[in-house]
Amino acid sequence: MKITHKKQKTIIKPKKRQAMDGRILKRQKGQKGLYIATFGCQMNEYDSKRMEELLYPQYVRVDTPKDADLILINTCSIREKAEHKVYSLAGRFRKLKEKRPELIIGIGGCVAQQEGERLLKRLPYLDIVFGSHGIYRLSDTLNRIERGEGPFVLTDMGDEFKMPPIATPLPVPHPVKAFVTIMQGCDNFCTYCVVPYVRGREVSRPKEEIIEEVKRLVEAGAKDITLIGQNVNSYGIKGSSSRGSGAKSAFNTTFPELLREVAGIKGIKRLRFTTSHPKDFTDEIIEVMAEGLPHCNHLHLPVQSGSNHILKLMNRRYTRERYLKIIEEVKRRIPDVSITTDIIVGFPQETENDFNDTISLLKNVQYDQIFAFKYSPRPFTKALQFDGQIDEEVKSARLSTLLEVQREIGLKRFKRFEGRVVEVLVESQNPAREGELIARTTNNLVVNITASNDLIGRLINVFIEEASYHSMRGRALTP
Ligand code: SF4
Repeated sequence: MKITHKKQKTIIKPKKRQAMDGRILKRQKGQKGLYIATFGCQMNEYDSKRMEELLYPQYVRVDTPKDADLILINTCSIREKAEHKVYSLAGRFRKLKEKRPELIIGIGGCVAQQEGERLLKRLPYLDIVFGSHGIYRLSDTLNRIERGEGPFVLTDMGDEFKMPPIATPLPVPHPVKAFVTIMQGCDNFCTYCVVPYVRGREVSRPKEEIIEEVKRLVEAGAKDITLIGQNVNSYGIKGSSSRGSGAKSAFNTTFPELLREVAGIKGIKRLRFTTSHPKDFTDEIIEVMAEGLPHCNHLHLPVQSGSNHILKLMNRRYTRERYLKIIEEVKRRIPDVSITTDIIVGFPQETENDFNDTISLLKNVQYDQIFAFKYSPRPFTKALQFDGQIDEEVKSARLSTLLEVQREIGLKRFKRFEGRVVEVLVESQNPAREGELIARTTNNLVVNITASNDLIGRLINVFIEEASYHSMRGRALTP
């Protein structure tokens, strides 16, 4: 199928536009509009931002699809519901393409990787389908589409970490928070998870590139850096079966060493990392966290289930006892630490006893927050074929029970801050409430404050007046 691309005839008036993360950009004459819809995790948020940066200055992000010359949907297939949303959104963009055939529409990310050519059959108006490994070829491919070639499917996955450098950084200060990817893909094959099939096998990013990117972001104004990857604890140990403590990476750097090195970069006020895997979580990581570098006393450690029977079926390769031992050590070494987790309920063969094991683990750990989901069967995965699939009604009931238990625990955990003075990093305006700012404690918990925008990017002390089970309200003490 050939796409004809008409030349842009209208002169675009310079107009203020926002970058994806809220920064204000001016769209200059001749620059094209880019609209990106992002679904899913922080990895996808990072990829979308990378696309915006790679396509600048040819394309500048616009706020609405109708102003765009290029629409990209960055998709997530971790749950069935997220996948359905993608198709419904793409259907809406089809109408725009019917009115303006020169509009380029692409679908990227996990659904694109999973479906490949099939997506083009289902949505024949697409110009490009690309997986996360195809992002680095996006710019050249768009040039070819503009010349009338295509459509294109970029879903081959290599075993190198390919990320082109940013040629022209966005000419605006960076917001306070920034994500930096340190690895792509995953080798763990948890039996419920589609990631190894859609993001490929684990590939670590060279340390030098990571350091350079963090420095660039900090120089541009970022203060809170989160190192991201599907399993950051196994950074660099590609193909090794002896993961964990002490194993050296292909770049001769372990994750704790990388963490220490990044923490040493001047200007970082907060350093976080996600996602961790309990089977690869070592004492050395706890050691680095406990050193009190610009780290945070927060750990996100997905447990998924409190039952050894279910953990085995999930191929998680740790036991409830091992997980609890890590938590005990983290609590012992890191004062006032906040622990958060991911949980799946209704995994195939999950009995009431298994579910009760998860509830008892919740009560034992006392998480500040949890991210809980009903099991969602995914293509390619082993669990799809398991006997003993659980009824949707049972899954829903278990999820409600779990959330109810956590609500009580979370409220108690947040209430510990009431009446205390804590240091927060002020992040941004609260888009939901005018005049209010969003700040974060070292524990990664949100504090809403009413204060001037000048405080954005600053570390300040706040008095916590009130806490609910997911956020707090504070009074700024630093002028
Ligand atoms: S560790 Fe398991 S859940 Fe996490 S991305 Fe890899 S396969 Fe998926």
